[in-house]
Amino acid sequence: MKNDKTNKRKDSFQKDISERKSINEESKISDDVEIPINQRIGNNKVICKGKIIMGEKYHRMLFGIIVVLIPVLIFIIAILRLDSSLSLKLIFLLITIFIYISILILLIKGGTTDPGILERNYELISYSNKKMRIKVNKNGYILKLNYCYTCYHFRPPRTSHCAECDNCVENFDHHCFWMGTCVGKRNYRIFVILLFLSNFLFVFILFFSVFFFIFFFLFILG
Ligand SMILES: [Zn+2]
Ligand SMILES: [Zn+2]
Repeated sequence: MKNDKTNKRKDSFQKDISERKSINEESKISDDVEIPINQRIGNNKVICKGKIIMGEKYHRMLFGIIVVLIPVLIFIIAILRLDSSLSLKLIFLLITIFIYISILILLIKGGTTDPGILERNYELISYSNKKMRIKVNKNGYILKLNYCYTCYHFRPPRTSHCAECDNCVENFDHHCFWMGTCVGKRNYRIFVILLFLSNFLFVFILFFSVFFFIFFFLFILG
């Protein structure tokens, strides 16, 4: 009974593969045609032969850097004006500046890393006339893959098409406003560390601002 099921799955898998192969052959673009990388990738900006890939609105990174800089600057000025020992001031300054620079590096690194873009596959362009969804057997599991009519390929699981970047991105999480690009397979870790550090910085600034404020009213004025 179990063998029957396995054989059925194998047969359907072989059928899918042979069907895909035959359609690939029909629609194949000549091997001599070299499609430039900017035509293979939607709205993303490609620099240094694909080593740097940014979102269309990459200038938002600068906006993010300034937004974080404002509370950091106010906090630094407040620390410098504080009537306390130099070593205590230095500890606060070093922690704040270190976290801010780390956020800056992570924001730029995350915004210039390829999030996992699947390049357009012109070999499968002929599918775009049809409504397509294929079933593929992977390790005994039947996966339904949808065809992307913009990128001309069958989307692997957890891949989505980003409307802003106009690309399919592997392990797509969301399109990040601050980095100006998608968060996906290759920059997800950077995004998580960035999120953790920026939250830590704001909690750190908020906690010590409230602490110094109370200390000021209770001990200096009181
Ligand atoms: Zn797509
Ligand atoms: Zn995007």
